[in-house]
Amino acid sequence: MQKVILNNGVEMPIIGFGVYQIKDANECEQSVYDALMAGYRLIDTAAAYQNEEAVGRAIKRSGVPREELFITTKLWVQDAGYESAKKAFAKSLEKLQLDYLDLYLIHQPFGDVYGSWRAMEELYHEGKIRSIGVSNFQMDRLVDLILHNEVTPAVNQVETHPFCQQIKGATLMKEYNVQIESWGPFAEGRNNMFHNGVLVSLAEKYQKSVAQVILRWLTQREVVVIPKSVHKERIIENFNIFDFDLSIEDMETIAALDMKQSSFFSHNDPEIVKALGTTRFEI
Ligand code: NAP
Repeated sequence: MQKVILNNGVEMPIIGFGVYQIKDANECEQSVYDALMAGYRLIDTAAAYQNEEAVGRAIKRSGVPREELFITTKLWVQDAGYESAKKAFAKSLEKLQLDYLDLYLIHQPFGDVYGSWRAMEELYHEGKIRSIGVSNFQMDRLVDLILHNEVTPAVNQVETHPFCQQIKGATLMKEYNVQIESWGPFAEGRNNMFHNGVLVSLAEKYQKSVAQVILRWLTQREVVVIPKSVHKERIIENFNIFDFDLSIEDMETIAALDMKQSSFFSHNDPEIVKALGTTRFEI
């Protein structure tokens, strides 16, 4: 298993399995179980995905030793703040049936993120979380958080795929020793990603699928990936990406696909800030 080393020395698998939008509990449990059987060891969930219990059941059923796993979950906006973050963390841990987390992320850069971060720093120092990080933090917010707190986030999980490559962001994160993690490596298929002519011809050249070419391109850039699928054959396919290397020229060909903007929405858009900042879940 190829790994990256985080800024506190913790090792993180470079490929994991994401469970966003797998709402059905049985489907989520089965998909995570299939992923663990296929060899994935990193699982990425969130309180807001409302499937932490199913993930916990799959982990238990798999029998994979705890120390082999790397489990990530995230704190939603409604639980931002010192006291709320501590309570939300305890709930997530209970739902996952775990006694520690490998990575806990602030899901969105909204609400009292400083209060949340103080709570997370304490939990980190108490050994209840092996590493703490953020998600969807634009570079200005990331630098601000780094400069005015003790612990530098180990990870920033941001939208990263061939149409939104985060080249500048990744350079800055490297400078600050923050690991970039891609969410939406396939942009959920938006902009016809799986049928893009350039990606299809590279897939033919390497005798791989478009999904595998994308995941290999990201991992060759040392970006951690967490593709999601509810289909066992795709779960296996997405994991089998280390038996080929894209040439420098082909990496550059994919680099030319960058649209330098989100395929979803902007975290700077006040309407989005309002929508995400006021969405509440039964957590
Ligand atoms: P994604 O992984 O980019 O795309 C998932 C879509 O691609 C699904 O429709 C899936 O279909 C399809 N797919 C997967 N493998 C395929 C293959 N080999 N061939 C063809 N189609 C394939 O989207 P995502 O789930 O949004 O992102 C991945 C993970 O990132 C999430 O699950 C979550 O853990 C995380 N995430 C985090 C944030 C955040 O704000 N921090 C936001 C979004 C996502 P099937 O399932 O039908 O196979």
